Amino acid sequence: MNRIEPPPPQHQRLARIATAGLADTNVRSERLFHGIPVSAGVAIGPVFGTIEPEAIITRQKIQASDTGAEGARLEAAIVQSRKQLAKLRARLAVLPEESQSEIAPLIDAYIRMLGPSRLVRGVKQRIKETLLSAEAAVMAESRAIGDAIMAQAEPCLSAEDLAGLQRRSDEIGEIARRLVRNLTRTPFRSFAGLPEGAILVAEALRPADAALLDPSRLAGVVTEAGGADGHTAVMLRALGVPAVLGAAGLTHAMQPGDIAVVDGLAGTVTLNPGPVTLAAAGKAVTAFARERQQYSRLRRLPAVTRDGEAIELQANLELPVELPLIVQSGAVGIGLLRTEFMFMNRETIPDEATQTENYRVIVEAMHGDPVTIRVLDWGGEKEIEALTLAGVVPEISDANPALGLRGIRLLLRRPELLETQFAAILRASMAGSVRVLLPMVTNVGEVRAARKIYERVAKRLRRRGEGIPEKLPPLGIMIETPGAALSADALALEADFFSIGTNDLTAYTLAVDRGETDVADLYDPMHPAVLRLIQFATEAALRMRMPVSICGELAAAPRLTPLLLGLGVRSLSMNASAVPKVKQVIRSVEISACIRFAQRVMEQSDPEQIRALLDGFGLGD
Ligand code: PEP
Ligand code: MG
Repeated sequence: MNRIEPPPPQHQRLARIATAGLADTNVRSERLFHGIPVSAGVAIGPVFGTIEPEAIITRQKIQASDTGAEGARLEAAIVQSRKQLAKLRARLAVLPEESQSEIAPLIDAYIRMLGPSRLVRGVKQRIKETLLSAEAAVMAESRAIGDAIMAQAEPCLSAEDLAGLQRRSDEIGEIARRLVRNLTRTPFRSFAGLPEGAILVAEALRPADAALLDPSRLAGVVTEAGGADGHTAVMLRALGVPAVLGAAGLTHAMQPGDIAVVDGLAGTVTLNPGPVTLAAAGKAVTAFARERQQYSRLRRLPAVTRDGEAIELQANLELPVELPLIVQSGAVGIGLLRTEFMFMNRETIPDEATQTENYRVIVEAMHGDPVTIRVLDWGGEKEIEALTLAGVVPEISDANPALGLRGIRLLLRRPELLETQFAAILRASMAGSVRVLLPMVTNVGEVRAARKIYERVAKRLRRRGEGIPEKLPPLGIMIETPGAALSADALALEADFFSIGTNDLTAYTLAVDRGETDVADLYDPMHPAVLRLIQFATEAALRMRMPVSICGELAAAPRLTPLLLGLGVRSLSMNASAVPKVKQVIRSVEISACIRFAQRVMEQSDPEQIRALLDGFGLGD
């Protein structure tokens, strides 16, 4: 039976919010912010700035011999804080003049406080003279300055002057918290205080932060940093939360209690919406819910083209909370199970038993439908504290993490991690149909080395008397670097299947950080270079009669479905909410038309031309 999706919780709160919003707009005028649309849907709700956790200062005192090193830690934190603020400041340029002139002075004041200021001088002095750790010194000095400012608050002062003093004191506190967060590398945020139905607004959200969000309590998410296919965006899409990333200036423009409308398709955020905007947003919320209901009717229909070609439609899974969404979506199995979630937001590395149990639950929930489990893809922006704390990996440096010890490279360097994970996957694979996937492969040597470990682990498990399948699950690889795509013919001799990861493939091909707002406009999976690499890798697999699927975000874009089918792809894996839309396209096309269409598209060298062709598919072709 098709399940009608319950209306989003914001539905019920709409009337209340509308009234509150209307009252508010008398005081604060409506303002529009633009960002990158990353997760469709419209949200209306009160904004809630993330509460940065009170950093826990475990080290109060230092030895006299450590003052030099402590000073250097402080300098590094100052540099990092200035960089963060300079980035925010630079991005204000996209705002209208009046908004810039309101927000910029505040950020400038923060930056100044990190220069040769009373705060910085005082902190340095405390480190040297009272042997406080850098973080303890920052807290002590900022409190002292804040108290000194508030001591000027005499009863005769006007309300305005008092507010001015309070503001200065708060600013000191704010910059101190930033410094301490950077000094202590505070691991993750707590969203415990997030009111139900709120719109979470943050300067930045790491994938590990996004993993802590409860989509049933949250109306929407907005950040000032982030890109369209960064891992945070991928997570938010997976959770089905309307989201806009890269909305410059918002965190400094909003005030507690402000209402906002987030349009995750248009990439806009309206702060303090007026009655007209609120009414339109209310209608959009209803229309979106209705569209979802209509799509849910497709759930039980097969993903077959009009000329009878069956297409494998699967879902990607980032977090276990997505399981019900995947089951409801009509996806047949999981084409990409990202295992990073299991390592996030904890202090120790999960052992074999814990991992086995986690995988088993997911495999069982799929009732025999295939599950492709990817081994840990640490690195890039996917910082995982447990690994850093265990000393398994260095702290991710600012230098070039995407080109560093990422994915399979780390696992081969620390084979004990890979062995544990292989063992857990092999044991869980008794519960259903499993495949194993290696991330960030760039050469055949990596596949050979991983396969050796895979077979060794299987042997060891058998000796231990563990039940594992007689025939080992297929061992496949991600094609997500130009190096892998261009050597796909050689890799096809070593791997059992390919999964094309278009997110990293786009980033590495175009040399564009997928999570970076400043270059988000250059991140273009429809660039002919990316499409040619997909074609090259797909053809290499098809020649070997080897399974090939696409599991990057490109697979979720219905406008690209005819092209991918025309290139020979017959298996797609995507966020659960995209499954019905893509299925609808599949059921409306013929493979022969897709092949002709793909030929035309692949002749193009201009991304704009490609986009125009994609939008025109089926219109007079
Ligand atoms: C990809 O790179 O396309 C991919 C699917 O992997 P991830 O997004 O986890 O890096
Ligand atoms: Mg990837």
